[in-house]
Amino acid sequence: MGSISEIPKTQRVAMSDTPETGAKIIEHPVVQPENLKPGEALVRLAYSGVCHSDTQLLGLCFTLNDPKVVGHEGAGEIVAINDPLSKLKVGDKVGIKFIADTCNQCEFCLDGHDMLCAHMKWSGRHVDGTFQQYAVSYTSQLTPIPEGLDLAHAAPILCAGVTTYKAVKEMGCKAGDWVALPGAGGGLGCLALQYAKYMGYRTIAVDTGADKKALCETLGADAWVDFKQTDDIVKAIKAATTDGLGPQGAVITSPRPEAYETAMQYIRPTGTVVAVGLPHGGAKIHCDVRDTVMLKKKLKGSNVGNRKEAIEALQIVASGKVTCPIEIRPFDQLNQTLDDLKAGKISGRVVLDLHK
Ligand SMILES: [Zn+2]
Ligand SMILES: [Zn+2]
Repeated sequence: MGSISEIPKTQRVAMSDTPETGAKIIEHPVVQPENLKPGEALVRLAYSGVCHSDTQLLGLCFTLNDPKVVGHEGAGEIVAINDPLSKLKVGDKVGIKFIADTCNQCEFCLDGHDMLCAHMKWSGRHVDGTFQQYAVSYTSQLTPIPEGLDLAHAAPILCAGVTTYKAVKEMGCKAGDWVALPGAGGGLGCLALQYAKYMGYRTIAVDTGADKKALCETLGADAWVDFKQTDDIVKAIKAATTDGLGPQGAVITSPRPEAYETAMQYIRPTGTVVAVGLPHGGAKIHCDVRDTVMLKKKLKGSNVGNRKEAIEALQIVASGKVTCPIEIRPFDQLNQTLDDLKAGKISGRVVLDLHK
């Protein structure tokens, strides 16, 4: 077992509390290197991104009366490890993502669908997550962070980045194809837009307002459709493609149910709509069965990504081709940040400096 000195006995963690207080920051013991179980590492986290689903996870911890340290987009450095067979070692920069552990043996694990493993453990639900300074993690699901990528920019890629990268891949498009991205100006959407550009796709950013238009254009969108300024969104998106037949793919990061229904109408024959954004309070997608059959349209769900996709998503960011716009806030602004997220006040991603 390797370890470095100066590991404190206690640390600051954000523990789930009542719905009114959200999370409260308390002093909590640090698991010491000699107490790590086989297959575990102790990671000194520098930053954690704040994800929209943290608000739901906090509520779930309260409902189940099972307080946990929430958070699932952490970046830091291994300070101790109890896994002689792992390639990882003390000093390595690593990320902690939503999936904390899987069985590695079931049909879904073997196929790279880690998210569907019946024995999956979530960061912030089954094990303590990333709103803490020292996290214990299973080495099998730690993501190595490429040399030269700063930890603050790496953090949001562990959830938002891998989720959008995977969804963009799920369209199954080829370079030069047109893809529509409803919600392109949002936190997930602006990453989807950049990954789509990275893949060589021609992009139609769909969102609303001058600020989001400017952001999408800066990020290289080939076309812009403002859904509030357009009477017929289906017609407008089809018209944005060179031959007017509609985009070959769409990734819906928008939580608006309408974004799904219109996508099944404007998607090109044989094209694929990938569902990512979860409408508040749930929703059903209505689409014309005859149209879907005759025009061979596809609708797929996509949910985070596997270990390999997390590595790829980070490598693309390290290459400089994709950047997550971030705002760094001190750790104790977690609850304020969650409120701002709920109020839709945050563009890009807030990353907490866990030691400030
Ligand atoms: Zn998340
Ligand atoms: Zn499994």
